[in-house]
Amino acid sequence: MQPHRYVFNKSKNGIYVVHEPNCPSIRHQVDGDLREILPKYRYEIVDSTDDGTTLYSETREWERSYYDANYLTEEDILESKARFRPCLICQPPFLEHIYQKPNRIHVSGLKPFHLGKVFYKYGKLVEYTYQYRTDGWTVILKFENRDPIFFDSEHDASLYYPRKTHHNKYKK
Ligand SMILES: [Zn+2]
Repeated sequence: MQPHRYVFNKSKNGIYVVHEPNCPSIRHQVDGDLREILPKYRYEIVDSTDDGTTLYSETREWERSYYDANYLTEEDILESKARFRPCLICQPPFLEHIYQKPNRIHVSGLKPFHLGKVFYKYGKLVEYTYQYRTDGWTVILKFENRDPIFFDSEHDASLYYPRKTHHNKYKK
């Protein structure tokens, strides 16, 4: 039995989108190209030995044409180094696999909506207090289960917290 194949499309932002082959949003590809396109293998020279023998290494490439559908198995997709997300229309059974840069906030710019967010390195922010002076400011940060942390205008510091991501249920 042939393993089930999904369509794997690179989008403009470099993140691949995984579709079911019958997804209505990719009809132009599937109707335009009913051939099954497997990953292409290519060889590149990596080294040569003392007696002049050239050594090759196999590399894998995928078709990138807009009108070609790239059919990959689940294994191919999970083993790829690519960032990908499931299509929101056909919802194939994949979890989003995207690393996104975290949100960055300077300690001088905290707002009430930052309360409760979990920051890298420090944990959940429960309280912040600014103290302003003529020569600068101090901010006292209280994170859950930690001693208060002080930052002031002399010490430029940023805090980071993860971006919200959409997670599809893993339907398998
Ligand atoms: Zn789709």
